Amino acid sequence: MKPVIEALIDALGEQAVLHGARVAERATSYWDASPTQALAVVKPRTTGEVSKALEICHRHDQPVVTQGGLTGCVQGAVASNEEVIVSLERMNAIESIDPVGGSATVQAGVTLQALQEAAREHDCLFALDLGARGSCTIGGNVATNAGGISVMRYGMMRSQILGLEAVLADGTVMSSMDEVLKNNAGYDLKHLMIGTEGTLGIVTRVVVRLHPLPKSCNTALAALTSFEAVTQLLTDMQRDLAGTLSAYEVMWNSYYHAATEPGGHPSPLGREYPFYVLLQAEGADVERDSLHFEQLLERSLESGVIVDAVIPKSESERHALWEIRENFEAMLAGRTTFLYDVSLPIRAMAGYAEAVRQRIVARWPDARCIQFGHIADGNLHLFIQPESQDADHLASDEAVYAPLLDVGGSVSAEHGIGMEKKAWLARSRSDTEVELMRSLKRAWDPKNLLNPGRVFSL
Ligand SMILES: Cc1cc2nc3c(=O)[nH]c(=O)nc-3n(C[C@H](O)[C@H](O)[C@H](O)COP(=O)(O)OP(=O)(O)OC[C@H]3O[C@@H](n4cnc5c(N)ncnc54)[C@H](O)[C@@H]3O)c2cc1C
Repeated sequence: MKPVIEALIDALGEQAVLHGARVAERATSYWDASPTQALAVVKPRTTGEVSKALEICHRHDQPVVTQGGLTGCVQGAVASNEEVIVSLERMNAIESIDPVGGSATVQAGVTLQALQEAAREHDCLFALDLGARGSCTIGGNVATNAGGISVMRYGMMRSQILGLEAVLADGTVMSSMDEVLKNNAGYDLKHLMIGTEGTLGIVTRVVVRLHPLPKSCNTALAALTSFEAVTQLLTDMQRDLAGTLSAYEVMWNSYYHAATEPGGHPSPLGREYPFYVLLQAEGADVERDSLHFEQLLERSLESGVIVDAVIPKSESERHALWEIRENFEAMLAGRTTFLYDVSLPIRAMAGYAEAVRQRIVARWPDARCIQFGHIADGNLHLFIQPESQDADHLASDEAVYAPLLDVGGSVSAEHGIGMEKKAWLARSRSDTEVELMRSLKRAWDPKNLLNPGRVFSL
């Protein structure tokens, strides 16, 4: 056994360190069921144990990869046989909830859904929300600065964070557990842990903001015939729902058709429309809000902005609508799929989406180019399914990213860079920006031990 593994077992105990054949019993990630590769998997319970583990790895020059819920889309948490995994899975305590101050203090391994549910018991809302809520962790959400379906109203993960604690590469604990929004005393170092994908430290505890729990929730699935109508409906709803619009998810026909094909989700509307929007508003007055919501939809129907719509009449019907948007497993099963997450100005979205589709079908005439996204944030997701033996990932990347440059877009709206998008970082960040990222990495992790090679190489 390698000395570093012996030292980790001595410090944390046999049950906290998986090694040998036990490592391969774990799946690589949500996206990849093949066995995990790593020298060992360390499962600390406290910040102190994470600190001990990193201090030992630092002494042995041992590279470390941090794992949360393994739902990340860019392979940042996927380790090699030479790396030690630190998994936050046992650090899943909700330490306290303060409904008056509007904050919750949690360990980083708590799942997003567990925090949402705990907040709800106190009549509070934890406002980050995304399809992987049952598995992704708060630490992973911090590390990726996760986005999701409520960003247009509440902001990304960065906006939900009051304070955090993290362990640096040499085991130093940085504790910035602020419980209040305002602290301008010098540099706000917590931001160096947000969206830096575990390259500067391991997040161990977080203080998040909570909001009052809305009382009403009104949802609709609408069908539209053009992207101009999609943006018109967004403008109308943002104005007339006066800040209560909390989700506006757009599905191109390519997505809706694939999601509702036989064996998939039932379709409550005709499947032939060019666009579908799943919109949701949350407010404070159950009766008044639902009447107002229905009136707005009727007005949009009368003016021709939407051509059909369905409003769920029960929680289970609402859930069924959200399943169309959030549960795409059947669409991916058995198919080679390249996943993209780009952002660009909404005014350029329709032209860009069509340009990518044309490039993809020019290369692979039978390909599926599935498009959907959090359009109010300028965020478009694409599933490219070449349906061909020649599933050249690079060619697909080029088709998606080349037209982005012309419209000032980003190769990563919310998933990060990880391993998968490293080659494309320079399309979205200048040389100066990337060099500044490297200088931060050298300052905080001079031995390049934390998530080495993720985001950029040194
Ligand atoms: C069905 C589905 C829907 C999704 N929808 C969205 C969406 O709408 N918006 C969105 O933004 N993302 C989405 N994602 C992507 C993913 O859920 C997010 O990136 C999420 O934040 C990852 O959290 P995780 O705990 O699974 O992290 P992991 O996958 O385990 O790790 C992700 C990265 O964070 C690092 N990391 C994890 N924990 C820590 C920690 N404690 N300290 C330091 N670094 C850490 C890892 O090393 C890795 O680089 C979706 C994924 C799936 C499967």
